[in-house]
Amino acid sequence: MTNATSLLASAAAASCWREISLSAIVHNYRAVRSAVGPAVKIFACLKNDAYGCGAAEVAAVLAAEGVDGFGVASARDAYRVRSRAPRTPILLYPGISPQWASDVAELDLTITLSSASELEAWAATSERLSAFVKVDLGFWRAGALPAEVEGLLDRAAATPNIDIKGLYAHLNELPGTGPTAREQWSRLKDLLATITRRPAIVMLSSSDGVLRHPEMDLDAVDPGAMLFGIADTARAVRPLTLRPALHAIKARLVSVKRADASIGPAPDLPGYSPDMRMGVLGIGWGHGLPRDLPFGASAIIRGTRVPLLAPLHLEHVRVNLSRVPDAAFGDEAVLLGSAGGEHIDLAELAMHWRTDSVGICCGLQPDLARVYAP
Ligand SMILES: *Cc1c(COP(=O)(O)O)cnc(C)c1O
Repeated sequence: MTNATSLLASAAAASCWREISLSAIVHNYRAVRSAVGPAVKIFACLKNDAYGCGAAEVAAVLAAEGVDGFGVASARDAYRVRSRAPRTPILLYPGISPQWASDVAELDLTITLSSASELEAWAATSERLSAFVKVDLGFWRAGALPAEVEGLLDRAAATPNIDIKGLYAHLNELPGTGPTAREQWSRLKDLLATITRRPAIVMLSSSDGVLRHPEMDLDAVDPGAMLFGIADTARAVRPLTLRPALHAIKARLVSVKRADASIGPAPDLPGYSPDMRMGVLGIGWGHGLPRDLPFGASAIIRGTRVPLLAPLHLEHVRVNLSRVPDAAFGDEAVLLGSAGGEHIDLAELAMHWRTDSVGICCGLQPDLARVYAP
């Protein structure tokens, strides 16, 4: 057998890839740091493999910046982060089972507790564990009811192997319904006024909180999307300039031909014609493109925009190359990014993919290779 491991290791061997700018992530991190000041801890939220940017690589650059901690939602992401940030605290959002307590202790992860039964299950493992208590301030998701928090903190204080380091809530507003950020904030303030065992770190802040609610900084913030330059900055009270970490999605032309009568009639779909010059890009819905891409989306090939043609396939999408007669097998096509004076940005892509910037970054699949710019 030949040694072809470079095929696996090299993104250059891939038919499609995304380009990620680590310096954009560092720039955004520094923007958050200067906004919250030196006294507020930053727990960088790296869930969903760091919003598609690679939790190991992102953890390495943020650890070098001196980030105070990380937040992740899966054991897999915790492992990726720990592999490149050996000492930084890692908070596991709700999700992992006490069955994994010895691994959690070995990787020195901080668990989340939302109820007395969770506390009991973790305590029963006999592992020495650090924990944050999560409170639900009206987001109707994970977290203890505000009325249960005091009792939970008391029980934890009487549990020798569980050390409560923090208390947090995910600040979020359900669109058009539910409590406003201000109502959640006032619930938290009421709670803090009543509990006697206030943990060292109290945290109520996503990107929304950092951008729109400076008064809610407390001891720590845990922004995610904004570190990747994809938070919604409309109505921001802190007008930060963020740079998108995902700056390109590219694919190669894996087939180029001119159709003729020998393959039969052209499909009766928008953008096809009987004698068209057509190409096939080595990217498809298996890499995270929407399966039902509407007509109107384009790619840039040799500095010219060409239409992408439905239907999409797992690994392929067709393009009409009539406007680029010299396009050739192996050419690079830009689905997101700049080439030859043309530019497709995240907002344009989000419109065609019927999602938003977070939906694009987090919807890209692991099979879409990552290439890092320093
Ligand atoms: C997702 C998440 C965040 C980060 O939210 P963004 O809106 O991406 O900044 C912070 N905290 C918790 C608990 C989360 O689940």
